[in-house]
Amino acid sequence: MEEEMPMVVLVVIRVRVWVGMGKLLMGLGVMGGIQLTRDMIFSKLLGGLSKCFLFLCFYWLSSFARGFFVTIWIAVVMFKSNDILRKQTALKGERKISMLVGISLAFTIHVVGVYWWYQNDDLLYPLIMLPPKSIPPFWHAIFIIMVNDTLVRQAAMILKCILLIYYKNSRGRNYRKQGQMLTLVEYLMLLYRALLPTPVWYRFFLNKEYGSLFSSLMTGLYLTFKLTSVVEKVQSFFAALKALSRKEVHYGAYATSEQVNAAGDLCAICQEKMHTPIILRCKHIFCEDCVSEWFERERTCPLCRALVKSADLRSFSDGTTSLLFQIF
Ligand SMILES: [Zn+2]
Ligand SMILES: [Zn+2]
Repeated sequence: MEEEMPMVVLVVIRVRVWVGMGKLLMGLGVMGGIQLTRDMIFSKLLGGLSKCFLFLCFYWLSSFARGFFVTIWIAVVMFKSNDILRKQTALKGERKISMLVGISLAFTIHVVGVYWWYQNDDLLYPLIMLPPKSIPPFWHAIFIIMVNDTLVRQAAMILKCILLIYYKNSRGRNYRKQGQMLTLVEYLMLLYRALLPTPVWYRFFLNKEYGSLFSSLMTGLYLTFKLTSVVEKVQSFFAALKALSRKEVHYGAYATSEQVNAAGDLCAICQEKMHTPIILRCKHIFCEDCVSEWFERERTCPLCRALVKSADLRSFSDGTTSLLFQIF
């Protein structure tokens, strides 16, 4: 009772103040020739309150919307960059070093700029596999993950640009190497991206507010799910690494001069004299450079459409990146 007494007194004082102010307003209204009724004062009060509420809503929405628009923006930039990189890769020998340097510079500025802007926002901790300092609210956790996931891809594109500069004038065997290197970078990044959300969700699920049993159960389930997906990514990465060291062409053999003479000297792809000819399983012969390029996209013989190349690891040799978001 002793503690409640001041509360009651406070409420009474407040009510008196309001009533007093109301009377004063009414008096002023009468003096001003306007009849301010009690209802009108009440509606004014309500109007003020709803304005205050609307303002709070707007404030909350604008901070929410800012995160939303930032996410949309960097996603659009990433999609666009993916397109640019694919086109540059397809240009092969025609690509310009200055253009590639410019693109990688622009990508670098974008990545560094966003991280600089959000340097106090728990974005950097998950990058080095540390959980954020405080438990993030659900939407903030999603925001952290989306931004990191997108910017890591953008950073990998810088690396791919450097690869494109390095392999600019290569043909045939070296061109294949470029494709394998691009694929390797992509698989390394897929592995890293699979790990990126882990510290954030680890912190989120370990929230003791939901009860310690529930939270530890969720954390356990999540880490188990994560482990299996990471093991799979590690396997793909090592498969890509193994493909890099594979020297022999795995869709045919080098043709002997008799085989080349019997088939005629011209390559059906480049219409020129055969250069290091390769004989496929279907007995068709092409230059190594020509057929290597062909098998970057196709799995069948260019002449008879016989299935030649076995389906292996998905190739990212065209310079593209996977566009799906890794949220969990
Ligand atoms: Zn050829
Ligand atoms: Zn054939």
